Amino acid sequence: MADIRILSEVETFLARQHRQYIDGQAVAAMDTVATDIINPSNRKVVASVRQATPAQVQHAVASAHEAFTGVWQQTSAARRGELLNRLADLMQAHREELAQIESLSSGKLIGLSRAFEIDYSIAFLRYYAGWATKIHGQTMNLSLPSSNGEQYTGFTLRQPIGVVAGIVPWNFSIMIAVWKFGSALACGCTAVIKPSEFTPLTMLRVAELALEAGIPPGVLNIVNGNGRTVGTALIAHPKVAKVTFTGSVPTGVGVGVAAMQAGLKHVTLELGGKNPAGFLRDFPVERTVDGIIEAAYLHQGEVCASAERFYVHRSRIDDVLEALHHTLATLKIGSALDESAQFGPLANAAHFAKVMAFFEKARAQDGEIVHGGTVAPGDGFFVQPTAIPARSQADTIMTEETFGPVASFLAYDDEEEMLHYMNDTHFGLTASIWTNDLSKALRFVPRVEAGTVWVNMHNYIDPAMPFGGVKSSGIGREFGEAFIEYFTELKSVIVRY
Ligand code: NDP
Repeated sequence: MADIRILSEVETFLARQHRQYIDGQAVAAMDTVATDIINPSNRKVVASVRQATPAQVQHAVASAHEAFTGVWQQTSAARRGELLNRLADLMQAHREELAQIESLSSGKLIGLSRAFEIDYSIAFLRYYAGWATKIHGQTMNLSLPSSNGEQYTGFTLRQPIGVVAGIVPWNFSIMIAVWKFGSALACGCTAVIKPSEFTPLTMLRVAELALEAGIPPGVLNIVNGNGRTVGTALIAHPKVAKVTFTGSVPTGVGVGVAAMQAGLKHVTLELGGKNPAGFLRDFPVERTVDGIIEAAYLHQGEVCASAERFYVHRSRIDDVLEALHHTLATLKIGSALDESAQFGPLANAAHFAKVMAFFEKARAQDGEIVHGGTVAPGDGFFVQPTAIPARSQADTIMTEETFGPVASFLAYDDEEEMLHYMNDTHFGLTASIWTNDLSKALRFVPRVEAGTVWVNMHNYIDPAMPFGGVKSSGIGREFGEAFIEYFTELKSVIVRY
């Protein structure tokens, strides 16, 4: 099937000279480097975006700070919620436009852009909007004795932290930004978002929709450019009170250190993983293969929550790998804008090179590849969905995050060994256990070292469920009620009377 027709409004948007979005308007910096945005399905340039100058980063933070103290703090919680809901309405109205821009710049299959990237972003925004009116402190009964008949009453206030810097990766360029600015704005903070240099377009459009929704200028700002210059300048700015970062572990560690050095800023770090999926012996081969497809290959494996390590009982592993090979061979690989494609390109040239290098390493170290391990036909960044049996838990394919469509397999003999393998990593983002024996699964759950543990499913997120990593997969939680703690300061007030 051919690619879908590109909407005329998308073509008009792409043809613009893209800039920063500060204080409610596009701000030009013609003297800075323009970065080409490449369509991963055919390697053609779709747009060009100017990198922010240091002065523009200053301008963006200053405008966010002014909007925080001048407008947003005085805006009632009900109004903040209403405005976030209005933005959600506008994103719904522009669903196809946003989905097409996203697929053109990230290689995400158009169906996934519509139903996951955009629809989930809308659901998350509405969820945060609902919380705006439910943020509260507590009253306390103070217990120290009074000596002269005086009394005390104590209570806490939950107050917005201030200007939030949100640094976002390229895999879900709207949704991860929404997690950051939706949380921030609901709590009364303002935000400066730095998208990945590979996928800045959709957030520039969302920022325009935010203004149209009535969100005041300066409350949501976007600065473009690479992490080393623009990201670093943002973190270092004294008026940034909190940094919320999603990305890889090494970059996240650097961001955490920089935020501490820049004045003990609050930090949330949502980092990478090498997530395990453990299939117990009772789980049938066919359902195991379905589970592997769900856990490993969504968005070409470019999902932080995806599983890359699979543990299957020795008695079943050969059957599982054979059936998986047959299933993967039927997947239609194609352009992100081809509605019949089931597997699209990788997101960018650097990531393509990283995954190809990983294939080479796997081949050199382990030899056998059950499926894939090569490029796939097409002009874009296409690789085959890949399945590789490991020789041991120490193999590179069992230890290094690929962030690509690479599933690695190890056989186990007993369930305690499987659990040991699952936990034998410095990562701890997600994990899944697959079995028909629910009571066994629920006994395993507390012993699995991960921020999220799924049973008989993988890659499912919901605004109501807190999300984040343990061990080196991160600090802090997004979504659920938990997010409020990370975007507010707790102030204690004591009154004597
Ligand atoms: P990176 O860590 O390379 O980059 C993430 C963001 O940080 C980008 O916007 C990048 O900018 C920016 N950045 C890079 N260097 C710095 C710096 N020194 N200071 C400030 N910002 C910086 O990750 P990727 O974009 O490659 O994303 C893939 C990684 O993200 C994977 O490890 C994946 O597991 C993880 N991830 C985690 C998620 C979670 O929720 N836990 C969700 C999604 C992804 P630029 O690229 O423009 O230079």
